[in-house]
Amino acid sequence: MESTEKILEVNHLKKYFKSGKGTLKAVDDVSFFIRKGETLGIVGESGCGKTTCGRTCIGIYDRTAGEVLYKGKDVHKLKGREKKAFTKEVQIIFQDPYSSLDPKMKVGDIIAEGLRAHQLCSSKEEERQRVHQLLETVGLNSEHATRYVHEFSGGQRQRIGIARALALEPDFIVCDEPISALDVSIQAQIVNLLIRLQKEKGLTYLFIAHDLSMVKHISNRVAVMYLGTIAEITDAKALYQKPLHPYTQALLSAIPIPDPKVEEEKQRIKLNGELPSPIDPPAGCRFRNRCRYATERCAKERPELREIEPNHFVACHLYDQ
Ligand code: SF4
Repeated sequence: MESTEKILEVNHLKKYFKSGKGTLKAVDDVSFFIRKGETLGIVGESGCGKTTCGRTCIGIYDRTAGEVLYKGKDVHKLKGREKKAFTKEVQIIFQDPYSSLDPKMKVGDIIAEGLRAHQLCSSKEEERQRVHQLLETVGLNSEHATRYVHEFSGGQRQRIGIARALALEPDFIVCDEPISALDVSIQAQIVNLLIRLQKEKGLTYLFIAHDLSMVKHISNRVAVMYLGTIAEITDAKALYQKPLHPYTQALLSAIPIPDPKVEEEKQRIKLNGELPSPIDPPAGCRFRNRCRYATERCAKERPELREIEPNHFVACHLYDQ
């Protein structure tokens, strides 16, 4: 159940990487929050910084500037017992179930790893039962515990990844493109599983994806990222019904509509050019070289993310008074 309590608060977060070619500004001044029990979707093209943002939020990467507060505590300053509790409460499900699960380990051992690290079972038998229970929770069965990862399909492997994350009874899970590597027919099954688990266990999700279609079904709110910044963030319904940022409008116009008549009449907004490099992003609005509404001002001033309608935040000069 969604509440008003904020489980995660991200304030002016920056994450830069130094490379031979210069400084890659993967996340460049991003602020948002996630309420307990909700799903915030983060969407954008590959290279927009969404995965780096998710990983910096849970301390996999150190930050360059800004802060991330989890239950009010600075994620990057946690130490000792608090850090251990954080690594139990906060989990991640990776994009690629093929490379994120150790092929040399039995599935039961993969799932039990976290249980052992946090000493959550008092006997081997308790651990075995817990692993079987977790496999059943994600739609697999106890016999799967003694098999190896290569014996499973992509969808089943992602279920194993979810069971591994659930083993520690987390409160918050970063789902880092968990369906992108799967067949379209399997994607909905995994999304439905994540929705069911959220309801049953009161989980909070940060759900990262590269297109807006599947995010719609799972997210309460959606943030659209473009070149290290947030272009728009609002309730999922408002975003799909009335996108305000020109980039969101273009992304949404690219989603196919099942009705052929509506699809034929729909106006597709073509994005000009490629996503510029985050090492040398355009001055002013980062979207300006692809935006059909760009003006001289857009080349000079970076638009701030502002509340244009209640709970609807947009970074675009078009909406300035
Ligand atoms: Fe387009 Fe200007 Fe708005 Fe950027 S600020 S999205 S360039 S109109």
